[in-house]
Amino acid sequence: MGRHPNNGHSHQGRLSTQILTYCSNGPLSEGLPPVALNVVGLLVQKFGGTAVGDPDRIRSVAEHVSRTVRHGNQVVLVVSAMGKETDSLLRLAEDVSSTRPGREMDMLITAGERKAMALMCMALHDLDLPADSFTGSQAGFVTDGEHQNARILEVRPDRVQAALDTGRIPVVGGSQGVSTDHNVTFLGRGGSDTTAVALAHALGADACELYTDVTGVFTTDPRVVPTAKRIDRISFDELLEMTATGCPKPAMRSVEYARTHGVRLHVRSAFTWQEGTWVDEEEPDMEQAIISAVTHDTSEAKMTISGVPDQPGIAARVFRELAEAGINVDMIVQNVSTEGVTDISFTVPHEYLDRAMSTGGSLSTEIGATGVVSDDAIAKVSVIGAGMRTNPGVAATMFETLADCGVNIQMISTSAIRVSCVVSEDRAEEAVTALHESFGLSGD
Ligand code: ADP
Ligand code: ASP
Ligand code: MG
Repeated sequence: MGRHPNNGHSHQGRLSTQILTYCSNGPLSEGLPPVALNVVGLLVQKFGGTAVGDPDRIRSVAEHVSRTVRHGNQVVLVVSAMGKETDSLLRLAEDVSSTRPGREMDMLITAGERKAMALMCMALHDLDLPADSFTGSQAGFVTDGEHQNARILEVRPDRVQAALDTGRIPVVGGSQGVSTDHNVTFLGRGGSDTTAVALAHALGADACELYTDVTGVFTTDPRVVPTAKRIDRISFDELLEMTATGCPKPAMRSVEYARTHGVRLHVRSAFTWQEGTWVDEEEPDMEQAIISAVTHDTSEAKMTISGVPDQPGIAARVFRELAEAGINVDMIVQNVSTEGVTDISFTVPHEYLDRAMSTGGSLSTEIGATGVVSDDAIAKVSVIGAGMRTNPGVAATMFETLADCGVNIQMISTSAIRVSCVVSEDRAEEAVTALHESFGLSGD
């Protein structure tokens, strides 16, 4: 790990934001300014589906790579499948098969990235940039055997490094690897972000640039609130809270990986090529925004087990059985008990609701509870900001804002830097818009 072509000179974290930005953004046609010659960076650049969605896009990415290289940088590319191809492949499998074995699903889905990486190399060759494509397996991504959601066990980027050492541009298929029993694996939806971060870490890159169809991470989903603003700089912790509560970009696993290994991320646009959002460790002396972002998530449903005997061990039993059924529980609220019984509510992902209801149903009879009900039309809205650690009143402002819109709060949970409320799904966008406004996040 941490090997680098420049004689063990590890780049990670050495260069300032300005220099890196300059290197990959500087003027196109002029000769190389002296500083760029002296300060060479190793960048992993990942391009999402829309960024490589058609032939023009692929050529435009190749031109950007060419610019980056002309400024003296070394570049490794990671590509997603073109456009919505992963969705099409998944639909195709559904049309053909009712069993869809995991091994074959992964073989199928990874074909999307394989096409994109070969086409990207062709476009680079056309610009006289020698480039070689690598599947996840060829790039050294060793994973477990959990098909469609494989975890990276190790990255051995020898071939990628060798390509770099001989002046070639490695182009790696995102979201894929090979299991310890030699099968092709897919890392899951959004896995290309994780491929890029893991590769940046394994190669000791200066930064990992995630190119997408928006100019960075926004104060809230720009599709919901058009006045949302791009965030210039955000901490790993805040971004992790954002991605855990509904922000799709970057994929949560990639942010976890980047935080654990200290890989600097730059989320930016493959359409405007302008400076995006830098993701980094929080600096202790930095003045924190009280609230950095508002997120929402409609992927969960709420379940309530009512009339639960209020005795030691009951909650332990309920959540142990749900865990054993493979159900990931998120928010949990237990009511004040009256006459020895209480209600326990919690949220689960929609796709697990049926399983959770059947586990909950039999459990409820066994423990002598009154019954189980569910509501799948809920949304979780969250406000996130490192500054709330030292500023009182965030929760109060959030609740007042929701009250002013007449939005009822069904559940509340908090972390040191987040407050989340479950509300009715049909009020979620209104709640997000109002919170974005009341915490002063809206642009002009
Ligand atoms: P890619 O395919 O490039 O990996 P995705 O399509 O998965 O990217 O995610 C990018 C999309 O995420 C954007 O088009 C944007 O609409 C959406 N999005 C939602 N919330 C946010 C946010 N807070 N900041 C940035 N993008 C967001
Ligand atoms: N193409 C895959 C997906 O859409 C992987 C990725 O883009 O990250 O989920
Ligand atoms: Mg994507």
